Amino acid sequence: MKKTAIVTGSSRGIGFAIARQLGLDGCNVVMVATGPQQNNQAALDELKALGIVCAYVQADVGDHDGRLKIVDAALEAFGRVDILVNNAGVAPLVRADLLEMTEESFDRVVGINTKGTMFMTQAAANQMIRQEPLEGRKGVIVNVSSCSAVVSSVSRGEYCISKAGVSMLTTLYADRLAGEGILVHEVRPGVISTDMTSTVHPKYDKMIKEGAFPIARWGTPQDVANAVSALCSDKFLYTTGNYIDVDGGFHIQRL
Ligand code: NAP
Repeated sequence: MKKTAIVTGSSRGIGFAIARQLGLDGCNVVMVATGPQQNNQAALDELKALGIVCAYVQADVGDHDGRLKIVDAALEAFGRVDILVNNAGVAPLVRADLLEMTEESFDRVVGINTKGTMFMTQAAANQMIRQEPLEGRKGVIVNVSSCSAVVSSVSRGEYCISKAGVSMLTTLYADRLAGEGILVHEVRPGVISTDMTSTVHPKYDKMIKEGAFPIARWGTPQDVANAVSALCSDKFLYTTGNYIDVDGGFHIQRL
């Protein structure tokens, strides 16, 4: 029997690379994004062309009903949930100094990144607990946080706070779910070339070239996908609550 992997925010960027990698690893994939399926048909077709069996769910992880819809859609399509990758996340719409940050922006970023991950994990974990183990395991949950969980950026404080929250909720769920046979891990990407970072691309290019950034190159979505794939793999012998830093050029593992 194949495992089913839900990957939130998987229509493009890091999430798409994770969905493709888990599909190539042999999972059925549930692609999730806020846009309608027709907007993301090319991404779905790319997975299908690789022989990956996938379903699409239009849902907002920041919304209670959206989160339940995702689990329901996975069950309807494939009957179970073995892997959840909480990847969907947003940056602030405007980078504003900490002293100018608006409450609206704080609520939006924390609502999607932190609250979305918190309660998406809760919904999936309760389903994993209800189902029979597959290959000796009830499930694996991987949360995509960020180096911003521990590195301060005063022009996007709400993002840093939201990702620090993801780190703590990962530890909390790791502790709570270990006894249920569910592994919970975290991946902390550094700077990865995607739509999210397109506005700072020229600035970071210059900093990398001048050696002002402690990285050798931009990370790629596939770098993050490789880390997630390793954490979801049966070859991964560690227990729960690990995190992997994915930085361009340096893949520092702290396990
Ligand atoms: P991206 O290119 O902006 O893609 C974001 C994806 O999430 C899209 O598929 C988007 O699709 C979906 N999405 C956005 N809001 C959503 C919501 N409320 N509910 C469901 N899906 C939603 O971002 P990315 O760079 O790939 O980032 C992916 C994750 O990695 C994020 O959590 C981000 O914080 C984290 N990260 C990124 C970097 C980086 O350098 N890029 C570094 C560290 C961490 P729709 O727009 O159609 O909804």
